[in-house]
Amino acid sequence: MAMAQPQADVQRLRNFINGQWVEADAAGTDPVYNPATGEVIAHVPLSGAADVDRAVRAAAAAFDRWRETPVFHRARVMFRFKQLLDEHADELAALITREHGKTLAEARAELERGVEVVEFAAGIPTLIMGKTLELVGTGVDAEMYRQPLGVCVGICPYNFPAMIPMWMFPLAIACGNTFVLKPSERTPLTATRLAELLAEAGVPEGVFNVVHGGRETVDALLAHEEVRAVSFVGSQPVAAYIYRTAAAYGKRVQALAGAKNHMIVLPDADLDYTTEAIVASSFGSAGQRCMAGSVLVAQQDVADKILELLVDRSSRMKIGPGDEPEVEMGPLIRDQHRERVKGYIQIGEEEGARLIADGRKTPVPERGFFLGPTIFDGVSPDMRIAREEIFGPVLSAVRVKDVDEGIALINRSAYGNGAVIFTRSGAAARAFRRHAKAGMLGINIGVPAPVAVFPFTGWRNSFYGDLHANGEDAINFYTDRKVVTTRWL
Ligand code: NAD
Repeated sequence: MAMAQPQADVQRLRNFINGQWVEADAAGTDPVYNPATGEVIAHVPLSGAADVDRAVRAAAAAFDRWRETPVFHRARVMFRFKQLLDEHADELAALITREHGKTLAEARAELERGVEVVEFAAGIPTLIMGKTLELVGTGVDAEMYRQPLGVCVGICPYNFPAMIPMWMFPLAIACGNTFVLKPSERTPLTATRLAELLAEAGVPEGVFNVVHGGRETVDALLAHEEVRAVSFVGSQPVAAYIYRTAAAYGKRVQALAGAKNHMIVLPDADLDYTTEAIVASSFGSAGQRCMAGSVLVAQQDVADKILELLVDRSSRMKIGPGDEPEVEMGPLIRDQHRERVKGYIQIGEEEGARLIADGRKTPVPERGFFLGPTIFDGVSPDMRIAREEIFGPVLSAVRVKDVDEGIALINRSAYGNGAVIFTRSGAAARAFRRHAKAGMLGINIGVPAPVAVFPFTGWRNSFYGDLHANGEDAINFYTDRKVVTTRWL
């Protein structure tokens, strides 16, 4: 693999503060790569406490005016933003593919899921409505209002450069808050473009700000006295750290974390459909999705057949740069991440699992961070490849005697993001729906990520906090409730 050296003539990104693009004070930068070629396409500044302070103070200064802006005006800004996102969809999808590596079809799909949140946020006049109750006492009435908090912060992972920022800022801003976004330092370009479009949509200066950076930037955001709430999406250890640290500073926190998602297949499933759904779930975005299926839980009578179909189908996947036609799987985000995923393949072999598709041997383009689809059979639930998040195109197959054993397996996982079942049996599907300990379930759906009107409900180590992203949870997360009890004499 040839990796280009960082070049001085490649653009250095700037922060977006108070409606202006400004150079970060911080001298340090990280290279941003096109993972399909290994080329450096930008340098991202690693903003420090002074940069963060500037952004948060701008957001704090903009708050009083924005919170007094009528709710229909805030809704109209979302309508305009949605329209701009639609108009620029091709350009944004190309940008996502360029910095992340996923296919253009996957980039468009991610964008659409982000746009759905903007559409949901445009309904803010009804979403933010309070409640009233007459006669809570003789001559006494009560009413409840929702009011914005102040400065909210979003800290994002690399794997959805458009969608995950849009899980955060449209709803926060529509509620009347101001916002500081810290995009992933590995995929910061799309967020930069979103900031431009949001400004074009009419969001006033200071209401939406972007500070680029990494760990030090995050720590400065968590500690800042003017920050009221922190939305985080990323890996489990960092989510746990963010939850503890931000809470210790007295912030409201929602921290969405890593995953290990199971897919039960029963003998009565439609196997052709199931094969396509599993391949898309496990190998789509090269396995870099928090809702990717990574453990196949095959009932023993169907295990040989479904594995044969999966090996055959995945061996025919077209792997290459995401912007080339018919490519089904792009690269991993970095060479270092590819090495980590290969390390897990080796661990699986050492643990005694049987490698039936070895992605290290798949022919892939020479440049870029590609790795082929990998499938292990004969995995036991205690193996690391069955328990730990790999976040790459690796599927581990465990055989079970029936649906109850499959559900019990899911329920022993430390994570609880998603789980799916493929079956024609209503009784099995009902048992799964009722007893599986995961927050987002799919019945004959490979990637059961909820649409924006529902919360994104990870359980156990897949989520820290109580109010989730999206849905009514998000409205409650980004507002304080105020209850007024009145007697007029
Ligand atoms: P990551 O945890 O490495 O980074 C996420 C963010 O945290 C980045 O903005 C990064 O700058 C910051 N960060 C990293 N290390 C930090 C530290 N020590 N202190 C403070 N901040 C730090 O995650 P990633 O690799 O970018 O994203 C992939 C992970 O995100 C996977 O584990 C995936 O499952 C998870 N994810 C979860 C969801 C969900 O909804 N639950 C969605 C998407 C991704």
